Amino acid sequence: MGDPGPTGRFGDFGGRYVPESLMPACLELEVAFREAWADPEFHRHFESILATYGGRPTPVTECHRLSDRLGIRLLLKREDLAHTGSHKLNNVIGQALLTERMGKPRMIAETGAGQHGVASATAAALFGLECTVFMGEVDTQRQALNVFRMELLGAEVRTVTSGSRTLKDAVNEALREWVATVEDTHYCLGSVMGPHPFPYMVREFQRIVGTEARAQCEALLGGAPDVVVACVGGGSNAIGTFSGFVDTGARLVGVEAAGGAAATNGVPGVVHGMKSRLLQDEDGQILEALSISAGLDSPGIGPEHAHLGAIGRAEYRSATDEEVLGAFSALAETEGIIPALEPAHGLAWIIAEAGRDIPAGSSVLLTLSGRGDKDVAQVRELLAGGR
Ligand SMILES: *Cc1c(COP(=O)(O)O)cnc(C)c1O
Repeated sequence: MGDPGPTGRFGDFGGRYVPESLMPACLELEVAFREAWADPEFHRHFESILATYGGRPTPVTECHRLSDRLGIRLLLKREDLAHTGSHKLNNVIGQALLTERMGKPRMIAETGAGQHGVASATAAALFGLECTVFMGEVDTQRQALNVFRMELLGAEVRTVTSGSRTLKDAVNEALREWVATVEDTHYCLGSVMGPHPFPYMVREFQRIVGTEARAQCEALLGGAPDVVVACVGGGSNAIGTFSGFVDTGARLVGVEAAGGAAATNGVPGVVHGMKSRLLQDEDGQILEALSISAGLDSPGIGPEHAHLGAIGRAEYRSATDEEVLGAFSALAETEGIIPALEPAHGLAWIIAEAGRDIPAGSSVLLTLSGRGDKDVAQVRELLAGGR
């Protein structure tokens, strides 16, 4: 997966569909990122923080008991073991370093479920940056504990009361704030979404997941696995993982929530400065994704996923809430790992297709993008409710 060039296009997707007022901010960021990413010192600093603070490299774990049950060889890339419990740290450390390099004292971010907000607040605390997180009013109520976490970390949470008062409105508000304060503020966007250079830059910061996993698979399997699986919300953990295997013969499979399957059910459209596949109604209004997993409640996917799907290099599947709950319990019981609900979607697809679409005996790598502590209370209620 290469450089999308100055226009930021991945085939028919991507680009920079922003009003004139946002163009200077995007251009300034692109220049700053390209300079930083060409600087070996920046890479050294990035990797050193991820090692000494973030806990990288994360291991690959072979799931012996679940593999026996499924008749495949299942490996997990353990992003759940990174600081703050998910892959999100890779991206926010990269962007915080860039903020510092640009000489800006402040970072803003959008958040839906609160996880990217918490990750951004974490990185801001580490770098001594001011941090404001935009969050829809509905989400602040659903995710009160994450609001408290962000405040503990020294961030200001700004409640967004426009539109549906959820993630897409928080993104709009953050973009507006960015334009108004770009002199001293960087917008730390949370996935491989938005206008160029974000989908490219966030992929590069998450590439470390795939690079590590590739070497770890070489050591364990003597080559790439047959199938590489990751869940897709916006698509950052998946694109980071895929980047390590795109040049191999491995099947690349992204798994979405059945209620938010933008790669499968979405139609090409423009939102938040990018062209991609989006869930839209007949009038072109963006639809809200519905899933038990707040982290996969994204009405669209990153443009590079839309492109990988269009050229047939990656496949996109979905899992229902019920399958996800089954996978969540199965991993806990057989391997002693409680996964986040997001990667439980990837596991649900693997469990459903082992011996079918995934031939018996296949080696399968799943990126376990996060740990399940945040989801335990919700799963308890769902299981008690007889689902
Ligand atoms: C946020 C999150 C996701 C979804 O984001 P992507 O950009 O699609 O990776 C997936 N898993 C976990 C654990 C998350 O926190």
